Amino acid sequence: MNEPTHTFSGHCHCGAISMELAFTQDAEEMQVRSCQCDFCIRQGSLTVSEAAGRAVITVEADQLTTHSFGSQTAQFLICSRCGVYAGAIMADGDELLSIANARGLGIEAFSHRLGTQMTHDDETTPDRIDRRRQRWTPTEINFKL
Ligand SMILES: [Zn+2]
Repeated sequence: MNEPTHTFSGHCHCGAISMELAFTQDAEEMQVRSCQCDFCIRQGSLTVSEAAGRAVITVEADQLTTHSFGSQTAQFLICSRCGVYAGAIMADGDELLSIANARGLGIEAFSHRLGTQMTHDDETTPDRIDRRRQRWTPTEINFKL
């Protein structure tokens, strides 16, 4: 299996939430997605993730707001200070999976991309969890106190 050697990093506008990403594919090979749910449309989300990759999220603990809706299976990470939507996480047993919002994190390697439009409105909750297992990035989250 390919090692995740392509690294990307970004942070919200003020820097309270940052993400370090490592993917097996380079930026141009990565699928960049533009989810068509009501939340992502409002945000103009442009997300990336890879099941074979790795992500490390670092947040200032007192600057994190989380938002859940719909199936309540993911938590959307929003900076309390600057208001940027940085990405989303889902707990899967002992593991944490995430997507990165390359737009909110200001990751330049993806900034020129047009997201593939994704509509997941008709998914059942088990299907939704399954899809994320196949696409989202195994993640570690660190809280700075
Ligand atoms: Zn911020």
